Amino acid sequence: MDLIGRRYDTGELIRLEVAGDKVHTVTPITVDSGHPNDHPWIAPALCDLQVNGYGGQEFSSPTLTPEAVQRITRQMDTFGVARSCPTVTTNSPEVMLHAVRTIAAACEASPAVAYRLPGIHVEGPFISPIDGPRGAHPLAYVRPPDWDEFQRLQEAAGGRIRILTLSPEYDGAAAFIRRVADTGVIVSIGHTAATPEQVRAAADAGATMSTHLGNGAHALIPRHRSYLWAQLADDRLTAGLIVDGHHLPPDVVKTFLRAKTPARCVLVSDVSGLAGLAPGRHHSEMCELEILPGGKLVVAGQSEVLAGASAPLGTCVANVLRFGEVSLAEAIAMATTRPARLLGIEAGGLNPGDPADLVLFDLIRSDGEQPPRFEVRGVLIHGEPCGVR
Ligand SMILES: [Zn+2]
Repeated sequence: MDLIGRRYDTGELIRLEVAGDKVHTVTPITVDSGHPNDHPWIAPALCDLQVNGYGGQEFSSPTLTPEAVQRITRQMDTFGVARSCPTVTTNSPEVMLHAVRTIAAACEASPAVAYRLPGIHVEGPFISPIDGPRGAHPLAYVRPPDWDEFQRLQEAAGGRIRILTLSPEYDGAAAFIRRVADTGVIVSIGHTAATPEQVRAAADAGATMSTHLGNGAHALIPRHRSYLWAQLADDRLTAGLIVDGHHLPPDVVKTFLRAKTPARCVLVSDVSGLAGLAPGRHHSEMCELEILPGGKLVVAGQSEVLAGASAPLGTCVANVLRFGEVSLAEAIAMATTRPARLLGIEAGGLNPGDPADLVLFDLIRSDGEQPPRFEVRGVLIHGEPCGVR
């Protein structure tokens, strides 16, 4: 199979030949007719470390089935996302065990699903109980770190948990983090009210990420002694950023990117299970939510209180170009090779021998009213063309 597109990193027009699940040859070409810009961009397919569900189904749900896991995963294909981490958020021990067990069952039933889901992200329940940092996680199920519970989850997941988001504000958190990190699981700081000292102690103990930095935080923070500065200043922590246009204002995105540098940032969608539903009011297990016409997901009747994200990862790529003043090559790296490297997997690429996980897309500039768009024209995952709407 041959693909023609403009390289995301150099802008050069290429013909890329795929053989099996690998890139075979890559040849620069010139076009006889039309303009090179008529061709789509070509880049590695995306890798999203935080997907909570889609189309009315949360992963963290007592009703999750392997079929629903497969459905959500195939939906990600259409967004150009080849690999993603199904994210199981704070809930009762029974529901969290059910969720990870069901995701594992879906992976065992289908090699295609297993390829697309290289690891589960467990976000909570060992997070801050405090309003603001806790975000939309239900207080009733927030609890301090518990090694035995984590072990039970990992066992139910068949060892597939790859990221654990927690708050280091609890006594004994550092020892717990060291123990988890020693098993090869990425420990990510998030939904936290920790002191700067506790953030540093967490990184000393092996934490290597910050989960959606700047969200799941107090509305007001002390200007100097803050978990935000402590995480921004610590080069051992790679920051996950939700750049959907709603979760972080442009100034914050630009400042975070300058502090951490694009090399220490990854883009995440954090899409909610309600993403993909029509605008209007929807009932979730937690509360009444509303999807506004632009796709913003809020608590019903409160247009400024975010209740989750609804934009796929490509939207974050399009936004970060504008907000962060980064190149397309850097924006794509933050959504492909960098998150893949954290997971210890190989992203697609544009060199012979690279995995044929590729996306062809157009970037539609913002017209002032509409945000910029990442429009998927074609997707190849594991060498196979996948459905695009
Ligand atoms: Zn979160």
